[in-house]
Amino acid sequence: MIIVPIIVFTLLMAAERLSPTNLGKIGGQTLLVYMVTTTVAIVIGLGISNVMDPGSGITLASGNVNTEQAPSLGQQLLNIVPTNPISAMAEGNILAIIFFVLVFGIGMTLVREEADADSSIRNGIDTIFETAEAGAEVMFKVVWGIMEYGVIGVFALMAALFGEIGIEAIGAYAMLSLTLAIAIALQMTIVYFLVILRGLVGVSPLAFLRGTREALVTALSIRSSSGTLPVSMSNAEDNLRIDEGVYSFSLPLGATINMDGTAMYLGIVAIFAANIAGVSLTITQQFAILVTALLASVGTAGVPSASLVMMAAVLTQVGLPLEVIAMIAGIDPFLDRLRTMNNVAGDLAVSTLIGKWNGALDLTTGVWADEVSTGD
Ligand code: ASP
Repeated sequence: MIIVPIIVFTLLMAAERLSPTNLGKIGGQTLLVYMVTTTVAIVIGLGISNVMDPGSGITLASGNVNTEQAPSLGQQLLNIVPTNPISAMAEGNILAIIFFVLVFGIGMTLVREEADADSSIRNGIDTIFETAEAGAEVMFKVVWGIMEYGVIGVFALMAALFGEIGIEAIGAYAMLSLTLAIAIALQMTIVYFLVILRGLVGVSPLAFLRGTREALVTALSIRSSSGTLPVSMSNAEDNLRIDEGVYSFSLPLGATINMDGTAMYLGIVAIFAANIAGVSLTITQQFAILVTALLASVGTAGVPSASLVMMAAVLTQVGLPLEVIAMIAGIDPFLDRLRTMNNVAGDLAVSTLIGKWNGALDLTTGVWADEVSTGD
């Protein structure tokens, strides 16, 4: 009930930001780096999960598994383009829905630009975008309502789970949390600190951490990248000294579509669900998870626990049991903090890089100046 409307509304909003007319050169660069870092994040998440095997050793008897007729890789790629978008929505074919909504949304932005003369078309398109925004807001309210009562369901499910599996369930939760924590630590140190900041920008990751600590701590405490946006922007302006022309575009875009922590989490939970369901995923299925997690993370709203909704999309895509979502909902508030912090750190690191590439980063003031004086 929730997944398809949320995907349609939130992706229409994202498509408005992704329009080629809005993007320009800097926007194109930002989008590309965002997508590359998110893909790397998912690969790291899947890699660590394959090593740590979170969820192995426990079985969920009630889970509904249907991974047998997984189509070939070529067929999966072809299936991304729906024959009929309405039947894709009726069948809950998530990748096809995401593809169609993005194409439709970007098409709308192009038509809106061309239709300068015809204001009724422009108004109509504006209305669709405004409706999407309102629709998304309404769906968040519905999710919020479900979450309020979901607590009772989660309590019952977790009680049943502990009854069925016993104390080992705690081990499974610990393993899942540890897998996410290690994957996030790797993404932060290798991708942001070593490759982007040290390698490509040539600055100290410690100075970056000093300059962004308010944003990172805010993300940790409020679990919302959209809510953290004002703090991220002020850190970018005052401490990282990125030009407003870059961050005023890259940070809101990042808060909407760039969610590295979320994307890797979606991949990790898919492996966790497969282990609990007792199925081993082929490379082709893991590739399907990668593509779905990438697109689903673009469609994830920057609000607390938004991943839980998108997880249904990823699990459905590979035929894994949705019961796992209820299982992890109990520990999600804790895991959400880590991934939101990663999401925000990713937006800020990439914005620093885009600033550097476009001569829009002042390395003589802000935290970078302290760096010289403290010799760090
Ligand atoms: N809470 C995350 C954010 O705001 C989204 C999620 O992964 O649930 O970035």
